[in-house]
Amino acid sequence: TRKQKLIPKAHYGGRHAVTMLPGGGIGPECMGYVRDIFKYIGAPIDFEVVDIDPDVDNDDDGNIETKSEAAYVTSRNVALRNELDMYVYVMNCKSYPGFDVMLMTNLYGSIVSNVVCGLLGGAGLLSGRNYGDHYALFEPGTRNTGTAIAGKNVANPIAMLNASVDMLEHLGHHFHANLIRRALNKTINVDRVLTTDVGGTSTSSEVVESILGNIGRS
Ligand code: ADP
Ligand code: MG
Repeated sequence: TRKQKLIPKAHYGGRHAVTMLPGGGIGPECMGYVRDIFKYIGAPIDFEVVDIDPDVDNDDDGNIETKSEAAYVTSRNVALRNELDMYVYVMNCKSYPGFDVMLMTNLYGSIVSNVVCGLLGGAGLLSGRNYGDHYALFEPGTRNTGTAIAGKNVANPIAMLNASVDMLEHLGHHFHANLIRRALNKTINVDRVLTTDVGGTSTSSEVVESILGNIGRS
C-alpha cells in the first residue's frame, strides 16, 4: 500500500478556502449561480477563482475544454485528476420527478435498459412497460427468462411484482398498487429480505412471504 501525505483542508475561523475553476463554456455562468446561492445562504466558503482560457495553450490544468485532438495530449481534466492523485470517481444517479424520455430504436433501448438494470442490481428488480394504441404489456425490465434458475426457488420475484404494480397503476388501481409498492419497499430496504442475486440469503418464497406480511401489517 502506498503512503499518502495528508494535506489538511484549508480552514480558518470555521470557513473553508476552496479553489474554483470556472473553466470554459457555461462553466463561468454556472459557477456564478453557485456563488449567488452560497452568498444567499451564507455558506462559510471563500473561493479562490482561477481562470484558465481554453484558447491559450499553457501548462496550467483546469476543468476546461481541451482544444487539441492529438492523441498524445492529455485532457486537462485528466491531468488535474492525475496531478492531485484523485483515483476514484463517484457519481450518484437518481431521477427527478418529471430526469426526461430517452427515445431510441429497439437494439439501443435494450442495451441502455439492461445497463441501467445492471447498475441498479441486476435482472431481478426493475420492470418494463410496452404500450400500443390498443394493448399494454407489463414484464420484467430485462426480459430475461432465467431458464437456468427456474424451479429452484431462487429467482428474485421483485421485477415481476414491479411489473404487476405497473399494471395496477395503468388500470387505475392506485390503492392496490400502493399497497404492494409500500410492502415491497419495506421488504427490500427495511427488512432486507433479499434473494442471492442482490446479496441476500432468502428464497423467492421467503421474499414473497415477507411482502405478504408487510401488506398484512399496513
Ligand atoms: P438470457 O436472456 O440471455 O437467456 P437469462 O434469462 O439466462 O439470460 O438471464 C440472465 C441472467 O440473469 C442469468 O444469470 C439469470 O439467472 C439471471 N436472472 C434473470 N432473471 C432473474 C431473476 N428474476 N432473479 C435472479 N436472477 C435472474
Ligand atoms: Mg433467457
